[in-house]
Amino acid sequence: MNLIDGKAIAQKILSELRTEITELRARDFPPGLAVILVGEDPASQAYVRSKDRTCHELGMHSVKFELRASTSQAELLTLIHQLNQDPAIHGILVQSPPPAHIDEATVIQAIDPRKDVDGFHPVNVAKVALGDPSAFVPCTPLGCQRLLVESNVQTAGANVVILGRSMIVGKPLALLLMQKGLGGDATVTVAHSRSRDLPAICRNADILIAAIGRPEFVTADFVREGAVVIDVGINRIADATKQSGSRLVGDVAFAEVAPKCRLITPVPGGVGPMTIAMLMRNTVQACRAFHTVA
Ligand code: NDP
Repeated sequence: MNLIDGKAIAQKILSELRTEITELRARDFPPGLAVILVGEDPASQAYVRSKDRTCHELGMHSVKFELRASTSQAELLTLIHQLNQDPAIHGILVQSPPPAHIDEATVIQAIDPRKDVDGFHPVNVAKVALGDPSAFVPCTPLGCQRLLVESNVQTAGANVVILGRSMIVGKPLALLLMQKGLGGDATVTVAHSRSRDLPAICRNADILIAAIGRPEFVTADFVREGAVVIDVGINRIADATKQSGSRLVGDVAFAEVAPKCRLITPVPGGVGPMTIAMLMRNTVQACRAFHTVA
């Protein structure tokens, strides 16, 4: 089977982290993550609970703040300032998107860059661009790169096409894959909604990464025979055959694309579990840096 099993790879990474965390706890340095959710968006609630649950499973210190939707920006900033000062907290994450009255950029910039385990603070964005190893790399791009490395997919010299140029996925992923070294050295093309002839651009890819948020947009005519396809998209579509009335699909039309691929990630069970695993890894990295543990 040509599936990249993101769930299994994430489990392997989490079990390595569990050992590291046990060692840090033995030295009285339990890694601590604070996750803040403003509002009651059900998908965001599910993400926040899953992050909190994973922290507990790994033996990390985890604090979850579920704030009402009417929380003011000033209240949120006060909480972030408190967490910045809290020595038990090494990572701070504000679940995106916040309600419209809150300016996300201001909130991200209020987080101490040393605790910005999402990697969205301008200091970390710059560090990623500079190739500084102390950077916190955004979790989803880091997870995509790790999936390729763990699956022995050669990125050096490969033509990689990334569909999507967001600051959360496409842009940082392009930076990672073009860096020198393991999981890098690729020739990267970033395509977006203004690109001409997407199928032709994508057919040039040895590795195609879809991160656009359009259900099953990437069809077989986008994919070269033998390509590796990473599907970042998470889209909920109506499905009357399901009890819930809906199901999750990626940005790739899996049934028609999979037979052409050398390797492909499923949705769910591909990139999603890696994103959480990389968040845990970044929090452990933050804890080590805080306590200057090599
Ligand atoms: P954004 O909406 O921020 O960005 C989407 C990008 O796709 C933009 O660059 C946009 O182009 C481009 N795009 C949109 N429509 C098209 C189109 N028809 N043709 C070409 N390009 C298009 O999304 P995110 O990056 O935040 O997320 C992308 C997907 O990844 C979503 O499904 C999201 O749910 C999923 N996701 C999954 C995660 C995981 O853990 N697996 C984590 C984060 C996101 P333009 O810039 O021109 O508007």
